[in-house]
Amino acid sequence: MNQKQLLMIPGPTPVPQSVLLAGAGEMINHRGPEFAEALAACTEGLKKVFQTEQDVFILTGSGTGGLEAAVVNMLSPGDSVLSVSIGVFGDRFASIAEAFGAKVEPLNFEWGAAADPEKIRERLAADKDKKIKAVLVTHNETSTGVTNDLAAIGPIVREHGALLLVDGISSLVAIDCQTDKWGLDLVVAGSQKAFMIPPGLTFIAMNDRAWAAMEKAAIPRFYWDLGKAKDYLERGQTPWTPAVPQVFQLQKALDILLAGGMQASFTRHARQAAAVRAGAQALGLKLFADPTHASNAVTSVCKPDGVEISDLRSLMREKYGVVLAGGQQRLKNDIFRIGHLGFVGESDIVATLGALGMTLKELGADVDASAGVSAAVKSLEAE
Ligand SMILES: *Cc1c(COP(=O)(O)O)cnc(C)c1O
Repeated sequence: MNQKQLLMIPGPTPVPQSVLLAGAGEMINHRGPEFAEALAACTEGLKKVFQTEQDVFILTGSGTGGLEAAVVNMLSPGDSVLSVSIGVFGDRFASIAEAFGAKVEPLNFEWGAAADPEKIRERLAADKDKKIKAVLVTHNETSTGVTNDLAAIGPIVREHGALLLVDGISSLVAIDCQTDKWGLDLVVAGSQKAFMIPPGLTFIAMNDRAWAAMEKAAIPRFYWDLGKAKDYLERGQTPWTPAVPQVFQLQKALDILLAGGMQASFTRHARQAAAVRAGAQALGLKLFADPTHASNAVTSVCKPDGVEISDLRSLMREKYGVVLAGGQQRLKNDIFRIGHLGFVGESDIVATLGALGMTLKELGADVDASAGVSAAVKSLEAE
């Protein structure tokens, strides 16, 4: 790589140098006092990020590991689970529950749209004898760039009484997620999305209802046993050797984030997302997501006429050093995705749209290459 790279994918995301350096210290004893101090500080900081006064755990593993932890700690084989899915990651959460023997009933919505809370209400209302034990929901569906309305879904699920298990991996920090207020029983996040730290950690918030469910959950578990995580946290430790550098990086990132406040983070993400959407549209591109639920963390863009997505992504990367994500699974050749979560600033957005305009033009599109930059700048100025 002989040029500056702009990583505009929905994870891993860019990391500030101060955060990178926080992970460059010498190794220490993970059962010693310095680590205990960092773990306690991170846990308290994460409670603010999750907007919860209940428990939060830092586990070593990717986000998918966090989803598996949710399943094995909350469910028993044969439990009925309602899987609300709007894309690849919703389907993955369902597959994990199925792999561990849950009876998963899909409630799928068209890709590009958000889940309809009324449809969830109807299905739960029809469950008169309360067979449904848990509801799985993705807060921000990274594969389609759509955000579900958890503020509406939370109270609907609580009224029924099922546990609400949330994949918040790409939403936490980027998009408001009020764990306690909305009645989310368990929420999973991941370090490499909006937290501004490298991959390697997953975070889980859980409330009293989740603890009560754990008492009865019979799926075998060992590495992901959250009961063990709680016992060890009380002693300032994790049950197994954690990714020590990432915990110090998390501490640094939380310092930066919480100094500005969570609201400022949500506002910044919303403002930058609006600029990306405006810029892409000004380049004649169509947005894939339902505009009423478009994500502030990642924007999905439809394939431009006469341009292959693989060519567009290659040229963006090779000539301009801008790395974009493709579509996943059946959307592979239909959309590309621009990640704008975490340590991404206004100048990154403007540069990306400039490179995108030049790339489209070079690939033969009839477009004013600077139109995206112009619209993005106008959008940033207006908001
Ligand atoms: C990235 C992501 C995951 C998977 O996380 P990994 O860290 O790759 O295991 C799951 N759900 C959502 C919504 C994501 O964005």
